[in-house]
Amino acid sequence: VLILGIETSCDETAAAVVKNGEEVLSNVISSQVALHAEFGGVVPEIASRNHLEKIDEVIRLAIKEAGISMQELTAIAVTVGPGLVGALLVGVSEAKALAFALGKPLIPVHHIEGHIAANFISNPECEPPFVCLVASGGHSHLLLVEDYGKIRIYGRTRDDAAGEAFDKVARAVGLGYPGGPKLEKMAKEGNPHAYHFPTAKMEDAPYDFSFSGVKSAVLNEMNRKKMLGEEVRVADLCASFQENVTEVLSEKAIALCKELHINRLSIAGGVAANGKLREKMEEKAKQEGMEFFCPKLILCTDNAAMIAAAAYHEWKKGNFAGHDVNAYPSLSLSEVKDEEKP
Ligand code: ATP
Ligand code: MG
Ligand code: FE
Repeated sequence: VLILGIETSCDETAAAVVKNGEEVLSNVISSQVALHAEFGGVVPEIASRNHLEKIDEVIRLAIKEAGISMQELTAIAVTVGPGLVGALLVGVSEAKALAFALGKPLIPVHHIEGHIAANFISNPECEPPFVCLVASGGHSHLLLVEDYGKIRIYGRTRDDAAGEAFDKVARAVGLGYPGGPKLEKMAKEGNPHAYHFPTAKMEDAPYDFSFSGVKSAVLNEMNRKKMLGEEVRVADLCASFQENVTEVLSEKAIALCKELHINRLSIAGGVAANGKLREKMEEKAKQEGMEFFCPKLILCTDNAAMIAAAAYHEWKKGNFAGHDVNAYPSLSLSEVKDEEKP
């Protein structure tokens, strides 16, 4: 089974060919990071225009690198949401046109299910049921993957997503955009125990997250030092912030595994590329005798191989979309199931 995945939900134009949901034949990613950097974040209009310019070439390359012809494809998969509407529409329109012209089935994929499915690529032993921590630019979910495409959410963020908090803190301390990787690099030079920033406690929802408190604490500390004319040790601020966030994420993920008696744990989304988080999760899982999985770095942030991997399991179930499928900018995780039902 050869599936072409297409992903244009944010600022990466991506196409990939994946065999049987786990073998990556090609994974082409055209990042717009440089285009948006001068604005300090993604500009939706610029994103859609750039997707439009790049998409044909990116798909052509993905097919060429896979060493196959378009006709050999089994199906076309595309991210239908959530994301920027104009950006999503470029991928969805392209996928619909290809599916129609080639006479192949069209498989709609939820972007977050794609992130989770990145785990199926490097780790064929990662099979449901397992607990997954999804931490990306727009989401922080702690969930149970009961079966392929069958998800139960136990925790979510009350305010900023984990990646969003990394980005905001990075911008505030002057590291620029995109913040996550830059903050991680700076944190390597700092002391993770220089500051003890607060962690939010939510008695009624122990698996929910809140990162706006720690984010504000970092900014307040920086401003306080500046006002006193004291030296601001950016590396210490970054290291302590990263320590706080990765500790909270890993503690809650392990706690949920214990409560559910699940001994398989995985991480997904852009923040899963963070070395400190990977280290902590691996260590804690080992202590508890749990199996731990994480996607390769390049499969953590946005890519199309993860979309094709998720689509493989939908293909098995025959979950295809009609040519009236649309882009759904605020598609929720459970909603996609209903959308796909005939
Ligand atoms: P979503 O998937 O929720 O729709 P998105 O697609 O924009 O959002 P991703 O591409 O999955 O997000 O991840 C990007 C996010 O991951 C950014 O917030 C970025 O700062 C963060 N990130 C990337 N690498 C790292 C890292 N090494 N450490 C911490 N955060 C990181
Ligand atoms: Mg991106
Ligand atoms: Fe993403």
